[in-house]
Amino acid sequence: MFKKISLSFLLAIYAFGFDYNLKPQKVSEDIWCFFGKTEVPSKDNGGFMANSCYINAKDSYILIDSGTSYNFAKQTYEAMKKIEDLKVSTIIVTHEHDDHWMGNSFYKDKFNSKIYAPKSINENYTAESKPRIFEILDSKDMENTKIIKADEIVVDETNIQVGNKDLKIIAMKEKAHTSDDLIVYLPNEKVMFTGDIVMNGRITSNRDGSIIGTLKALEKIESYDWNTLVAGHGTNTTKTALDHTKNYFSLLKTRILEAIEAGTMADDITKIVTMDDFKDIAMFEELNSRNVFDAFRELEFYDED
Ligand SMILES: [Zn+2]
Repeated sequence: MFKKISLSFLLAIYAFGFDYNLKPQKVSEDIWCFFGKTEVPSKDNGGFMANSCYINAKDSYILIDSGTSYNFAKQTYEAMKKIEDLKVSTIIVTHEHDDHWMGNSFYKDKFNSKIYAPKSINENYTAESKPRIFEILDSKDMENTKIIKADEIVVDETNIQVGNKDLKIIAMKEKAHTSDDLIVYLPNEKVMFTGDIVMNGRITSNRDGSIIGTLKALEKIESYDWNTLVAGHGTNTTKTALDHTKNYFSLLKTRILEAIEAGTMADDITKIVTMDDFKDIAMFEELNSRNVFDAFRELEFYDED
């Protein structure tokens, strides 16, 4: 009996791919998010690390970041359909990292959704591109996942209206988390989506970013009037949602500059600047040393003026 059950269970898994077991969390009136794991992408988490959020705009949904695969996008949509059965008319991609936009092809196939994105999406990828997630997950879990172009490139500040929602899509113009990040602000709802410029509950990955640019972008984000802030990773959406990122980057900058001033060389920087006060935060082991080393490289010729 047990053998029979486990065999049919395995067959079900094989037939449908990774089961994300998704539960949308309401973060504000008309807005639901699927919060990713504060882990590196793996077969065990199905590559679900980035937050993916739906805004109910009355006649359709607006989606901020479509997640890691076609299969993931399909499952988020099925969960949202239970709340209200609306099409997805609009997708906004915050940046080019693959955990944020590999689900686009599901929505394009099903609804011909209009995709807004930073220019890096159309410049750096073709239909043949295979970002890292294709290596991490099994091919059946990446089935139907296609790299597709964005319809509208945002290079400045773009105001759009979708259904009953007004949105500002704002390009950062200077390297922050990547060379090309978008944030999304809903002035009437006072909700801000920052993509990965802000993370909480985990250490950030600054491999494509800038410590100085991120600190400037955080200042810009703080200048908007918001009550809810949805980070690219992490579940804190309150007034304190950006404190962790700001604190980490500010201390990193101060400590690296002090170490440089004291004559520390590249080979020793990760021994001198340890950031130990963050060691209990998720992904510290995986990401902190690299962040310290990259920050040194960025700041070694930095002049505050
Ligand atoms: Zn990212």
